[in-house]
Amino acid sequence: MNYAARLSKIERLAGKGACQLCRLFKRHIWLDRAKPQPKPEDSALIITARCEMCGATEKHDLSGYPTDLREMMRLYCTSTLEDTYTNQRAWAAQHWLSYWLAARLEQRKVTSEIRNLYDSPQSPHAQQRAYARQQKAREREQALAKDPDVKLYNKLMGEVQALNERRHKRLERQYGENPFPELKARLDAVQSPDYRDLSKDEPYAHDVPFSPMYDLEREALLWLKCVELEKATMGDVTAHTTGKIADCERRAQEVIAFGRAKYEAREDKRRQEEARRQAELEERRRVEEEARQRAEEEAARKRAEEERTNFILRTLGGQGNHDERRPGESFSEYRMRYYRTHGRWPS
Ligand SMILES: [Zn+2]
Repeated sequence: MNYAARLSKIERLAGKGACQLCRLFKRHIWLDRAKPQPKPEDSALIITARCEMCGATEKHDLSGYPTDLREMMRLYCTSTLEDTYTNQRAWAAQHWLSYWLAARLEQRKVTSEIRNLYDSPQSPHAQQRAYARQQKAREREQALAKDPDVKLYNKLMGEVQALNERRHKRLERQYGENPFPELKARLDAVQSPDYRDLSKDEPYAHDVPFSPMYDLEREALLWLKCVELEKATMGDVTAHTTGKIADCERRAQEVIAFGRAKYEAREDKRRQEEARRQAELEERRRVEEEARQRAEEEAARKRAEEERTNFILRTLGGQGNHDERRPGESFSEYRMRYYRTHGRWPS
């Protein structure tokens, strides 16, 4: 089927004549009528929302959401745009959903960032994976550029956004830009946690990678804003969101552990290198010391030899011939002198 024919089929299936909003969000139901509709066990999980533009009703199934989030989703789905200017809970639910979606996006990004920390960028496996990822992204982009459904989606989205903008302007004129200043101020006051603080006094503080930590803090900030909005809507925080914040801290500890391991590996290598250098130095000292001792012994030996020679020369020079009995010398004196010089008695 050529492109024009496919586009016209999608246009036809996407409900020509219905309002842009319905066409945008229901086009997949129209595109594939045979697709089995989810059947929740509890019919209370099916809620009916009304299209604000044309009044058509639409059913939403909440069973796919974590139990404690269903109340927020229900509030979001059943509130009109005008409700978000007149009802603080509706305003909170609308903002909550946008923070919730952004937080989930950030969570995926951070999780893959942390996984990549352990991939040495030089390893052939990592390079292969990066290449495959790029290839896939290129293919996806090319497919999207040609896909008639994507074109239709973009066209409808543009129309819906322009329409929504006009409606927001009208409602702002009626209720003011900031209908719930107190809650807005509370939301603005929420600060991101400082996970860098957890390791700032440690010797490995500089080895803790910056980027995943920064993104984790951003993710945690989004969850903390959800906390504020859940309190405003339901009076309490869901276990889901509390768990997400705890998980951010757990992942922060994981990033810190990575930094610590990197630091310790480097320190280990440095210590080994130092020990090797020390051993080399000691060996050199030992060899030098041995050479010095040998030289000293040699010098001492030479000195002793010289001294002996000098003594002999002195004795010979000062007292003449040893072997003859000197005048006035008794026989026993002569024998003793002979013995001292030759180490034996004269014959
Ligand atoms: Zn509609």
